Formats: sequence, C-alpha cells, structure tokens
Amino acid sequence: MSAQIVHANKIEGQCTCGAVRYRVQDNMAAFKLCYCSFCQKASGSAHVTNAFTTPEQIEWLDGQDKLATFDVPNSQVRRVFCRVCGTTLPF
Ligand SMILES: [Zn+2]
Ligand SMILES: [Zn+2]
Repeated sequence: MSAQIVHANKIEGQCTCGAVRYRVQDNMAAFKLCYCSFCQKASGSAHVTNAFTTPEQIEWLDGQDKLATFDVPNSQVRRVFCRVCGTTLPF
C-alpha cells in the first residue's frame, strides 16, 4: 500500500495493483505500534503501526467493487483488502 500525506489531516493512497484508491481525512491523533499475535498474523511481520480513524473518515475514490472484507472472530475488527492484489486497506 502506498500512501502520501496531502495535507496534515488528509491522506490519499492506493493498493498495489491500483484498482482501489482512497482518501482518509483525520488528524490521526492516536497511533500505536503493536506486536500482538493478531497484528503479526494480519500483517505477516513482527509488528505494525496502527493509525486510528473512524469509518466515516474513509472515502473510497475508486474500486469500491474490488473491496473484500474479513470479520475477525471474537472482535469488532473488520479487515478490508483489495480482492485483486490482496493489499490491506483502511478499515
Ligand atoms: Zn489492488
Ligand atoms: Zn495488535
């Protein structure tokens, strides 16, 4: 996933294949580095950086029909990714 900061509170990005583009407007006041087993499994790496926003702040600019979701059992987490290239997307 590539993302660039357009303004201090606006981020635009797209998935690896370019089918899905999004914009997040939030000041991202809270972000955490996490290395719990869920984050490790979800990312396939040792740890992740999570920036927190709300669904209302996420705007899909393109490729909304390419989105796939996975509701993580026993949690309120819904993961969103591109069904073409598998890139993790804002959720
Ligand atoms: Zn994609
Ligand atoms: Zn975690």
